[in-house]
Amino acid sequence: MNALIQEVEQPRYDRLGNLALPDNEDNKDELHKALKLSGILQTTLEVDKLIEIFAHEIIKLVGYQCISYSHKEYAISHVIGQPAEHSCTYRLVVAGESLGELIISRNKKFAKTETTLIESLLCGLVYPLRNALLYQKAIEAAHKDPLTGINNRASMDEIIDREVNLSTRHGSELSLLAIDIDHFKKVNDTYGHAMGDCVIKAVAEASKAAIRTSDMVFRYGGEEFLILLSNTDREGATLLADRLRQKIEDTCIICDGTHVSATVSIGVTCMKATGDSRSELFSRADAALYQAKSSGRNCCKFFSAEE
Ligand code: GH3
Ligand code: MG
Ligand code: MG
Repeated sequence: MNALIQEVEQPRYDRLGNLALPDNEDNKDELHKALKLSGILQTTLEVDKLIEIFAHEIIKLVGYQCISYSHKEYAISHVIGQPAEHSCTYRLVVAGESLGELIISRNKKFAKTETTLIESLLCGLVYPLRNALLYQKAIEAAHKDPLTGINNRASMDEIIDREVNLSTRHGSELSLLAIDIDHFKKVNDTYGHAMGDCVIKAVAEASKAAIRTSDMVFRYGGEEFLILLSNTDREGATLLADRLRQKIEDTCIICDGTHVSATVSIGVTCMKATGDSRSELFSRADAALYQAKSSGRNCCKFFSAEE
């Protein structure tokens, strides 16, 4: 395999902001191509789309069979085409910041003139790519709760609306769990806010561990969480709720050497067979949670719309 690994560093710019490649006619042509490509790539902030546009544009200049782009930290892996025998691997770096790895491959060896051209074109890719990655990070941060790393309330309405609509359209089961930590104020008052935060994190961890990848957990408020279970009926939701409640009761939470335990109350409800709205689903889960609190806490209650 002809593997060429190249670090593509921050391109140099002259006083006018043009890419500063050495001044000869070939490079002027490459510079023009890189700038033109960069302009086309500015049209999107989606990483996958950006790589697709890049792939589409460079095939006009260099033949290849496969382009794959990956970035571990962002969990991105985007492959276009079938990997082939000869490859050029580029670690994309701008101002010391890794922008991931790009591999171009084909069955025929790459000529030096072609790799030089690819490197010039990559100069047109790196800044739009950096913007797209920053944008992706900002979008993710806006939807994540910084304490627990789970989805926050801002992401919840949109996701739950989508799931409720899907369930109504396909007649599929959908259940909602409303979870609230019991006597949480006492944890804060007795052990301090940092211990309270540890308890919130432990409940978020237990909730994440209890669900399948198709389910979703949200931090709804201070010590309140919601879990959305797709394709899950009353029986399945109640079973999961009670298993989670038990797991939290059995967990010894350690924060700065101090051990505490916590319990939760859980309200459970399911979508009506005839379809439902987000607000109705919410109010039933809330009413079920209220019942669990009034029944002494550390228990799960189901609220049915059909009874
Ligand atoms: P109940 O069993 O009825 O739910 O009682 P509770 O004490 O859990 O409920 P209450 O609503 O009275 O108290 C919730 C407390 O959660 C009050 C608030 O100070 C605390 N809280 C809210 N957000 C956070 C947070 O991010 N970290 C910490 N440590 N505490 C928080
Ligand atoms: Mg509460
Ligand atoms: Mg509470």
